[in-house]
Amino acid sequence: MSKRVYLFTEGNAGMRNLLGGKGAGLAEMTKIGLPIPNGFTISTEACTDYYEENKTISEDTQRQIYEAMSWLEERQGKKFGDTEDPLLVSVRSGARASMPGMMDTILNLGLNDVSVEGFARKTGNPRFAYDSYRRFIQMFSDVVMGMSKTFFDSILDGTRRAKGYVYDYELTAEDLKDIISRFKAVYAEKMGQEFPQDPREQLMAAIQAVFRSWDNPRANSYRRMYDIPYSWGTAVNVQAMVFGNKGDTSGTGVAFTRSPSTGAKGIFGEYLINAQGEDVVAGIRTPQPITKLQEDMPEVYKQFIDSAKILENHYRDMQDMEFTIEEGKLYFLQTRNGKRTAQAALQIACDLVDENMITPEEAVLRIEAQSLDQLLHPNFDVQALKNGRVIGQALPASPGAAAGRVYFDADDAIAARTEGQRVILVRQETSPEDIEGMHAAEGVLTMRGGMTSHAAVVARGMGTCCVSGCGDMTVNEAEKYFELGGVTVREGDYISLDGSTGKIYLGDIPTVEASITGNFERIMKWADSFRRLRVRTNADTPADAENAVNLGAEGIGLCRTEHMFFAPERIPKIRRMILSDTTEEREAALNELIPYQKGDFKGIYKAMQGMPVTIRFLDPPLHEFVPTTEEDMRELADDMNLTLADVRARCDALHEFNPMMGHRGCRLSVTYPEIARMQTRAVIEAAIEVNAECGYHIEPEIMVPLVGDKKELDVVKKVIDSTAEQVKAEKGSDLVYHVGTMIEIPRAALMADSIAESAEFFSFGTNDLTQMTFGFSRDDAGKFLQDYYKSKIYEADPFAHLDQNGVGQLIEMAAAKAKKVRPDIHMGICGEHGGDPASIEFCNRAGLSYVSCSPFRVPIARLAAAQAEIKLRREAKES
Ligand code: PEP
Ligand code: MG
Repeated sequence: MSKRVYLFTEGNAGMRNLLGGKGAGLAEMTKIGLPIPNGFTISTEACTDYYEENKTISEDTQRQIYEAMSWLEERQGKKFGDTEDPLLVSVRSGARASMPGMMDTILNLGLNDVSVEGFARKTGNPRFAYDSYRRFIQMFSDVVMGMSKTFFDSILDGTRRAKGYVYDYELTAEDLKDIISRFKAVYAEKMGQEFPQDPREQLMAAIQAVFRSWDNPRANSYRRMYDIPYSWGTAVNVQAMVFGNKGDTSGTGVAFTRSPSTGAKGIFGEYLINAQGEDVVAGIRTPQPITKLQEDMPEVYKQFIDSAKILENHYRDMQDMEFTIEEGKLYFLQTRNGKRTAQAALQIACDLVDENMITPEEAVLRIEAQSLDQLLHPNFDVQALKNGRVIGQALPASPGAAAGRVYFDADDAIAARTEGQRVILVRQETSPEDIEGMHAAEGVLTMRGGMTSHAAVVARGMGTCCVSGCGDMTVNEAEKYFELGGVTVREGDYISLDGSTGKIYLGDIPTVEASITGNFERIMKWADSFRRLRVRTNADTPADAENAVNLGAEGIGLCRTEHMFFAPERIPKIRRMILSDTTEEREAALNELIPYQKGDFKGIYKAMQGMPVTIRFLDPPLHEFVPTTEEDMRELADDMNLTLADVRARCDALHEFNPMMGHRGCRLSVTYPEIARMQTRAVIEAAIEVNAECGYHIEPEIMVPLVGDKKELDVVKKVIDSTAEQVKAEKGSDLVYHVGTMIEIPRAALMADSIAESAEFFSFGTNDLTQMTFGFSRDDAGKFLQDYYKSKIYEADPFAHLDQNGVGQLIEMAAAKAKKVRPDIHMGICGEHGGDPASIEFCNRAGLSYVSCSPFRVPIARLAAAQAEIKLRREAKES
């Protein structure tokens, strides 16, 4: 027998992997003596068993669950299924990482047609009893059986309307009785069976539903977005019910010990009197600020504040707590380290250091590297904002500025985004079905819901700007328009949102980029003091390079020279070069390009202020440059004194069936050494001139792409060396330069020792290395990778997150082989993975010298590199 069920009294905070975040938190709170309703956790291992055992809960686990229920009955002095005084429980999911999209909560489980009567008698409150039962039917039908909420909502809405009520709490016991029988009828009609009356059946069905929800499409897509492994599974918490819907001395709420938006110290939260948990989150009623509790129930408020302090000191981090007050008695239902915006994360980490709660090293580990992306998001241009027309204001749920066209449903938002539109998703309220639409949107605006509503929580997690709870707005999702501030805004119209002030503007307000200051700078400085990996950037223009330097880049790891050829005045020249028949013609065309290339390189060297710069020689298949329209072909024909037919024929001749594996990379320089000659001249002349002008000591690094053999590199290197020496002699310079290669085809990794004899440095081009190792086209794989995720073949996009098992082996092997031949070889990574935190951790372990990523990811990489090194050092200390 393997233990799969743990009473709250048996667990602690360290058992998160087994008990999930919620289970571990409940156990820890039990341990430190806070008021927690009794209960137990069914472990994440039971979830894994469930999937391994063909989606069944084993008899042994069921037995353990019933044993724990008996313990709970004894503790509560009530029997599960009793007709007079039934024990009622809540069932909630709780994975290691909190995960919207999974089944959340079922309350009041254990009620049936008979026990609800006993419950009404026992509590002396029939309205409360029937309200609890109708909620249970509604939640069970929705989350366990997958019935659409609309069936129930329309019955509730209908009764409210017929009776002239505004709020659910105005429904009387008689109204609720009638609603229950209509709910059950709709259940029977849609499910083809009666609503289950056996509490044990209800319990097992609810537990199964939690396990099932681990594998629903929303959870799977969330996991992919946040890199959460499928193998983790979820735990299930079963807990004795406490009731926030027992009248005016009862209530329920959510609160944080510091602001999750700004990080400011102080209790921040919301609660509702006479309500159950889902009322707060669903945003059906607009909650009161937590400070109002001080007026309503001062004793409870004081106890709450004291307990919150205990929890924050205990966890040494900002806590996100759920609580319920039952007839004046306070219970905690959850505590966890609260999700927060990046801005808040930085503020909290710095404050906790200043309050001597944590060390700078811990502060660095506390910030989710990817979340820094939020801080690099734009703000509104101050001047433009002055002229902006405010049409409304609501809750500033997730900061940042966003402007775009309005769409009213997630699919429309995704489609518009795919077409390159900037999108604002406007909804009455959001639900987990909207997650991908929210992800596609620049900003989200909702009519209902507080700061802890679904829209607010999810948007903050994603770093998407969000304004929520705009009660002044009427949204017609079906007819795709909303009305606010006397204006009707239709699908496709522009609006702008300020997620930090909650203001809603008409029109498309320009935005400006953020800069690194204050707490950000402080954390970055700490991070820089811990990391070993250098962080470079991939930049092809002086503007990108400058931006990257401002964000802390320490060099350029990849300058893709082909990007420099697409400007209107340059493209005809490169086309002429490509379509030339003779070396002389080609050289003539290339010579015209030298001044442009040299100018670009000088601009980049200057922007990098003497820091190292790696310039990668021409890489793509040449046909990418050829004209496709007749007009361009005609122009080229005139320019080259050819006929249109000639040009067309020469373009056709460049066609390749498999261009990614075709005539590209160093293969171009093998065929046309004059290309390498031209580029070398530009690189070397530019460096000599900038060193002289600025007093720098730049040693340019020339990188040869797509090498698969030492001899191939040697052929190109010979051209580079002879040209460089010639230029140096012409200029009387003793410039030092370096020649290295990219490792981006598997053969290069296999032959790394021999290639390292000629290459002074390696840069792992993991975009191509992934493409060629998997045999997946980097341009097309997106079309079918979805099927691979669904079939659980791969969990993540290998082009975004380095495949450490496969491609990673090639990197480790190549690095080890190269070091044998050239112990001081400089090695880095410049594929997209260079800005991905998990991949950066891998690069740190593999002993690379640097990572190179796009400018906006430089701060993420700096922080991730620090975290990777801290973890490595801690592991080394422990072992
Ligand atoms: C790579 O292949 O990883 C790389 C950086 O080069 P490119 O993306 O330009 O092919
Ligand atoms: Mg490449």
